[in-house]
Amino acid sequence: MSDKIEFYRHDLGDRELTSLRETIDSLFLTLGPRVAEFETRFANYLGADHCIGVSSCTMGMVLALRAFDIGPGDEVITTPMTFAATSNAIEHVGAHVCFADIDPATGHLDIQAVRAAITPKTKAIIVVHLYGQMVDMLAFRQLADEHNLRIIEDAAHAIESQRDGITPGQLGDAATFSFYATKTMTSGDGGAVVVRDKTVAEQLRRLRTHGVTKDAAARHGSTYQHWDMIELGYKANMTDIEAALLLPQIERLDERRQARERRVLRYRELIDQMDDIDLIAPRGTSAHHLFTIRVPVDRRDAVLTKLGKNGVGCTVNYRAVHTLSYYREVLGYRPDDLPCALKFGQRTISLPLWPALPLEDVNTVVDRLYTILA
Ligand SMILES: *Cc1c(COP(=O)(O)O)cnc(C)c1O
Repeated sequence: MSDKIEFYRHDLGDRELTSLRETIDSLFLTLGPRVAEFETRFANYLGADHCIGVSSCTMGMVLALRAFDIGPGDEVITTPMTFAATSNAIEHVGAHVCFADIDPATGHLDIQAVRAAITPKTKAIIVVHLYGQMVDMLAFRQLADEHNLRIIEDAAHAIESQRDGITPGQLGDAATFSFYATKTMTSGDGGAVVVRDKTVAEQLRRLRTHGVTKDAAARHGSTYQHWDMIELGYKANMTDIEAALLLPQIERLDERRQARERRVLRYRELIDQMDDIDLIAPRGTSAHHLFTIRVPVDRRDAVLTKLGKNGVGCTVNYRAVHTLSYYREVLGYRPDDLPCALKFGQRTISLPLWPALPLEDVNTVVDRLYTILA
């Protein structure tokens, strides 16, 4: 058997080391000029008005919910087909997580199910651009406007995505991004929020640094000036070290997306002929963050084990969040409450995908899959 085919490999290298060196040689290590530089450059890349560097996508969602004044007594609708971070953010601000079911063709929130879940207490919808394909933001924006709701886009998979000429953050009230180790751009951990409203942007900047009126870099000057704390915020800022690692990666986002796309096209071409496997229906321009297939329910776990034993790194994105113990035991969700998400989550397997994944490894992965399923 040949070497292990990893699920993911980052490709940080000399460019990032040079950039990091610059920061280590400077005065600021945490929230400082590199974060500001990153925010400008990332906002430009996305075509966004304001970008705020934060410690994670999860904290980005918490901050956005807080900035929209969402908390106890409020309901937020979201999808169970996501990482637990999405609904956890709602729990963290004390609002009620209201899961709506998904469209099995895409794994996206089903807009009709969202419409049916709206109550007088609903304040926001958190949509997830699953695997790199954006939800239909035109339709979600219209629905949200009809009911005076906020939309937060969990864009952890969608840095490079587009649909109907729109990028994440252009129609939502906020979009949050992750730079966790397996994401398409990474600083180990880290995140960003983009928003269209200047006042919201200012509040997010305060909320990421405890709610104080001047952050450390702004306080650094010739003479000491007092600062105040005007609301209860968090410790959730991006650091200059993270920004230094991220800055050189912005220039390569599109080239790396194209490299992933070539691997996805190869996968699709080879897998299309296999009866037992369902693929995600394409929507818009995908970031191709993950390549996820669905195998028969009764075979999923065995396929995962056998692929692993055959040297193929694979994972599950995701088991439906409402079936996890916390959401069953504390919030009282039952697996059958959201039948489409339940079934989808019982069938998913994500296969290796990264820009430098050798194309012949794609063939090897599919061959092994074929043998296991035959
Ligand atoms: C990775 C991920 C998150 C969490 O990102 P962090 O930066 O680790 O907080 C949230 N949502 C989705 C869909 C993710 O894939």
